[in-house]
Amino acid sequence: MFSTCIKTLLRTTSKFASLARYESTLVIAEHNNENLFPLTCNTLTAAKKIGGDITVLVAGTKCQTVAQNACKAKGVSKVFLADSDAFKGFTAESLTPLILKLCNEHKFTHILAGASAFGKALLPRVAAKLDVSPISDIINIKASDTFVRTIYAGNAIETLKSKDNVKIISVRGTAFELLPLEGGDAKCETVPTDDYTLNQVQYIKQELSKSDRPELTSAKVVISGGRGMKSGENFQLLYTLADKLNAAVGASRAAVDAGFVPNDMQIGQTGKIVAPNLYIAVGISGAIQHLAGMKDSKTIVAINKDPEAPIFQVADYGLVADLFKAVPELTEKL
Ligand SMILES: Cc1cc2nc3c(=O)[nH]c(=O)nc-3n(C[C@H](O)[C@H](O)[C@H](O)COP(=O)(O)OP(=O)(O)OC[C@H]3O[C@@H](n4cnc5c(N)ncnc54)[C@H](O)[C@@H]3O)c2cc1C
Repeated sequence: MFSTCIKTLLRTTSKFASLARYESTLVIAEHNNENLFPLTCNTLTAAKKIGGDITVLVAGTKCQTVAQNACKAKGVSKVFLADSDAFKGFTAESLTPLILKLCNEHKFTHILAGASAFGKALLPRVAAKLDVSPISDIINIKASDTFVRTIYAGNAIETLKSKDNVKIISVRGTAFELLPLEGGDAKCETVPTDDYTLNQVQYIKQELSKSDRPELTSAKVVISGGRGMKSGENFQLLYTLADKLNAAVGASRAAVDAGFVPNDMQIGQTGKIVAPNLYIAVGISGAIQHLAGMKDSKTIVAINKDPEAPIFQVADYGLVADLFKAVPELTEKL
């Protein structure tokens, strides 16, 4: 109670606000009601960099285990558990009123989520309701009000200072280390879930693609195919290689648009952002929109029959070859 009063006083009295800041961050957990997604652990590292108190919101349906795991993250002071059927499907429409209520009650200075499809759907809605500007896809934090993000498909880096009193931020996971879920002992508080059942939308079902391969955004090795693969069937060449390397398989937008593979495999500006230890681009030209999603990979290998392909400008190792010969040869040698 006392600390809430102090925080409110500091924020509303400009004289004191310039002398002291008391940061208080709400991290919206992304999970599947069983496990916390790694992206939330990256987001927690970003929250720690901001400083001050960190609270995690675990909202879902029968998601107590997730909340208990979040309590183990070192540096987290509190976990709010909001368990209700209303949060089935984690729709932005159902979660927004809950977040607004918590923000109003606890006067958070920052609200963070990962820059995934979940965060990208949720945060702009929360920001619009609070009448502040969302700050998307940050890659660094200079101060509690100053953030770094890429613009123009990663061709320029922008540092921006936010004057909003609540900063709504999505975090690029690959730019922050994973905070391990150990060493912490946060309190878990069940928040009243009121009635968040909605009239506007009703969650019906989701169909998730199943794969035994590692998840694309957290895989240590990613092999991606482009238009040069020529068909969906030919992606089998990459799956066989991926299984030998315990790799995830991604694709360029051209390969997705051509219907070779589903769009959850797309890497790039309008797809997923990855930064694995090893990225192998096969039959991909290296358009800036594709590079925006993978150029932070530690080692980049490109296989392309065109020696002038722009991908070779970012590749650490390049192989000018016909992929239909090179990939089977490589697979056989492993
Ligand atoms: C707003 C916007 C957002 C976009 N977002 C994304 C995005 O998120 N991700 C993305 O990837 N793109 C995105 N794009 C599209 C992007 O501009 C490119 O069109 C796309 O990345 C090209 O894909 P590609 O390299 O597979 O195809 P291409 O550019 O057609 O390249 C195919 C390559 O395959 C090589 N090749 C062909 N046959 C062989 C062979 N037998 N052996 C070896 N090499 C071979 C060719 O030499 C060529 O370099 C976006 C575009 C816009 C405008």
